[in-house]
Amino acid sequence: MIQLVRGFKDILPDEIGAWNRIEKTTADLLASFGFSEIRLPILEKTELFRRSIGEMTDIVEKEMYTFPGSRDEMLTLRPEATASVARAYIQQRLYAVDPIQKLYTIGPMFRKERPQKGRYRQFYQINAEVFGIESPLVDAQLIVMLWSLFKRLEIFNLSVHINSLGCPACRPEFKNLLSGNLSSRGELLCADCQRRREKNPLRVLDCKVPSCQDAIAGAPVMSDFLCQACARHFDSVKRALNQQEIPYIINHRLVRGLDYYCRTAFEIQTTQLGTQNAVAGGGRYDGLVEALGGPSMPAVGFAVGIDRLVDILLQRGPQPGSVPDVFIAPLGDEAIRRSFEWSCALSLADIKTEADFSGKSLKALMKRADRVGADFVLIAGDQELQNGSVVVRNMKTKEQTSVPIDKIARQIKELITKKIRNPEASSQKSE
Ligand code: AMP
Repeated sequence: MIQLVRGFKDILPDEIGAWNRIEKTTADLLASFGFSEIRLPILEKTELFRRSIGEMTDIVEKEMYTFPGSRDEMLTLRPEATASVARAYIQQRLYAVDPIQKLYTIGPMFRKERPQKGRYRQFYQINAEVFGIESPLVDAQLIVMLWSLFKRLEIFNLSVHINSLGCPACRPEFKNLLSGNLSSRGELLCADCQRRREKNPLRVLDCKVPSCQDAIAGAPVMSDFLCQACARHFDSVKRALNQQEIPYIINHRLVRGLDYYCRTAFEIQTTQLGTQNAVAGGGRYDGLVEALGGPSMPAVGFAVGIDRLVDILLQRGPQPGSVPDVFIAPLGDEAIRRSFEWSCALSLADIKTEADFSGKSLKALMKRADRVGADFVLIAGDQELQNGSVVVRNMKTKEQTSVPIDKIARQIKELITKKIRNPEASSQKSE
């Protein structure tokens, strides 16, 4: 049997309810914060990610799915979405329509990381990006938005970590000092960090290797080096979060893996997962649009890992997508023929319907109705057809009602509405 590619996964029907809920909640929430959806290709020129993410990052160094395209061009399955959104913002000249664009996109990303629980090679993200606004209030607003997204999904036990990475005016001095500091503890650094120490010492700060953690203990922190403008910016973010009563932790070690971040960086972690505990991360990347050939433009955004949110929702049990309201169990040829008609009519009246045309026994049909989780079963045999009615059985209370054939759709709709409005009332016999 041909198996899945390692690190990839199937999303099965008993999980899809969670996926749908997350995507719908996101779409509603982001629309109310003024965001529009954008859909982009999953394949881009490799150069886009090399330039935007940076050469000395794990993603570009070892995690990209890259292969030759046409005419000596290398192509890559996108490992993240910010670079693609920025590319579209520039290429489609969205900035010329209005420099301020609030965009979000939902879709798969690909990284050749070592697979483990909560870490996949194809995983899904919600990405929100704001272009054209320098104000720190928008950084805080993104965190507020994330906080409400998790609240709406009833995901709690979260901690918000924030930091400021400074800007091209103040970061170089910090980088130099950090690099010098790390060179005195060089023997503690892992092989990757030995290489990064000189060119990209900030990356050493978020290395998870324990000896690197020892090496950075007591290392200088960026917040002591922020220029006045960056310090003011960071203070405003914190004030805005206080105003919205969002608790946060200032995490001096938080640097984010991508090179293009500046000023605000944030990450949201949960205690409801194992080691892969980050559910969202983001920050400001004021230099990226210009670096990719667009106008000089401030920007800030975040990415949420949907797979990890789904894992949390599934801890509460299966979340199936579509459970039929009604299951039609016809007995005999004439009933099967009529059940085709009824099932089309019910489905077209927006009632979730499953009909079984197999001609199996009532016992087998009832077993299947139970298995698919239908609330009501419509039973029709020769006797019922002769009487011009069918039997509707409430699967929870086991009560049965006779419903005239010409009123099937109306009566079933009434039963379902009653059940939705008052689950207890549905246990009373319908007239
Ligand atoms: P990043 O783009 O690395 O900042 O990641 C943003 C979010 O995407 C993280 O907080 C995770 O929730 C999620 N994520 C990143 N990489 C993976 C992965 N390999 N598998 C599952 N989720 C991931």
